[in-house]
Order: sequence, then C-alpha cells, then structure tokens
Amino acid sequence: MHPDLARVGRLAELDAELERLGKELAVARNAVAETERVEKEAMAHRDRLQAELLAASAEERALQRQLDDYRAKQQSAMRILETGAGNPDAAERQLAQCSAILDDIETKLLEMFERQDGLRASLNAAETELAKAGAERMRVATETPVTLARLEAEEHATQPKRTSIADELSLEVRQRYDMLRAGKKKVAVARLVDGSCTGCQMTVPAQHISDLRRGLMEPCRGCGRFLLIG
Ligand SMILES: [Zn+2]
Repeated sequence: MHPDLARVGRLAELDAELERLGKELAVARNAVAETERVEKEAMAHRDRLQAELLAASAEERALQRQLDDYRAKQQSAMRILETGAGNPDAAERQLAQCSAILDDIETKLLEMFERQDGLRASLNAAETELAKAGAERMRVATETPVTLARLEAEEHATQPKRTSIADELSLEVRQRYDMLRAGKKKVAVARLVDGSCTGCQMTVPAQHISDLRRGLMEPCRGCGRFLLIG
C-alpha cells in the first residue's frame, strides 16, 4: 500500500475522533444552560398551578358566602311559615327558589372540591419535578467542568497528532483529502471490503485492487474517496 494511503487512513481516524470530541464538547458546553432551562420551566409550571389553586380557593369562598346567604334566606322563609308572621305565599316562593339555588351552589362546591383535589395532586407532582430538575442542575453544574476539562485535554492531545500526520502528506494528497472532507461526502476515506467500496458500495475492479496493492493511490471510481486496502 502507498505510504500516503496509510497516513490518510490515520488522518481520517483522527478527524473522526476530533469530530466526536467537538460534538461532545458542544453538548457539555450547553448542558448547564439546558438544565437551567428545564428547571425554569418546571418552576413556571409549579407557579401556574399555585396561582390556579389560589384562584380556585377564592371561587370556593365566594360560593360558601352565597351558600350562607341563601341558607339564611331559607331559614327566614321557614320561620315565616312556622310562625305565620308574614306573607305565607311569598315565603313558599322564597323557600322553593332558595332550595333550587342551594342545590345549584352545593353542586358547584362539590365540583370545586374535586377540582382543588386535582390541582393539589398536580401541584405535588410539579413540586417533585421541580426538586428533581434542581438536583439535576446541581449535578450537571458540578460535573460539567470535569467533563469539559477531560474533553478539552483529549482534543488538545489529538490536534497535534492530526497536524503532524497531515504535514507528512504530499500537498496533492492533502488538498484532495481536504476537498473531499469539505464536500458533500464529508468522509474522505473508504475501505475495500469484499471487493466493494464501503463509501459507495460499488464493486472495485480486480485491476484497480491489484494497482492499490502495488502501491498506487487511485481513488474509488464510484465516489472518489481514497480507498484503503488490507
Ligand atoms: Zn466508492
């Protein structure tokens, strides 16, 4: 195999490594902000539920006041009917009206209690979520500097290896490598596996394979990538 072909293979490995490190670094750099965002969202959700529960309590108090008012009216109508002091027809009408309204208020109150139960359960769940998000943010805030330091050290160790391999390549090979990487194919190197190119799956002619074995650097005729053998 052509010595530059082996170097190109090593270069591709280092570039893949650097790309992986770059992606992991980006994730790690974003990790703290991401957990802060999640915690903020959990807090907003909790606050919304608290506000809903407060509003529901105010509605409940208003309903209780209505209930008290109509019970008082109901009792005064009953007193009129019991004592005969007053207009019995008007008292009967008031009694019927009060019963209907009281039924309605009681139904609304029961619905309100159910709604409050539901809201309290949701609020509890939201508090748990918020606590979890807070703990996760703390964990990530503690771990991220360590992760970043490790990834940056790996990147700093890999970069000079890449530079020295690239420097060993002939200008022509290096330019071709850079061009292939910059292009749509992203990866400049393919392997010969079972007589086919791993980059484009095209069968590589026997003559081409023997040329590669003889030390020629002929790219794949299907995709143009450097073909590594052996
Ligand atoms: Zn190919």
